[in-house]
Amino acid sequence: MRNSKAREIILEELKGLTTHPRGDELYDIVRQKLPRISLSTVYRNLNVMRQNGLALELHCGDYNRYDANIMPHNHFLCRRCERVWDVEAGSLPEPASAGALSGFRLEGQYTVFHGLCADCAASTG
Ligand SMILES: [Zn+2]
Ligand SMILES: [Zn+2]
Repeated sequence: MRNSKAREIILEELKGLTTHPRGDELYDIVRQKLPRISLSTVYRNLNVMRQNGLALELHCGDYNRYDANIMPHNHFLCRRCERVWDVEAGSLPEPASAGALSGFRLEGQYTVFHGLCADCAASTG
């Protein structure tokens, strides 16, 4: 199987999701189209996509999660159900900027907010 074909399908599947899947969750989905793909191939391709700016790798909770939405936006991680939501940039206060780093090219800032989602907040009372 050609790597570029696998990458195309992985990216296509990731673009269809707003759930910010873990690598193994994405593997389960991609496997329905590419039954012979391995988990390590999925991770390797995700890594290439991240390096090329095609996907974001989010360090949320205990897992790395992936997002094909590369427009600047923030995330909300529910500590109870561990789901991740997109939060539009600007709808919650931004932390202080990283400041000037000489020679660095700043491309954006991704913030992960923590707390309880509406469902979990309602069930805790
Ligand atoms: Zn929740
Ligand atoms: Zn996102």
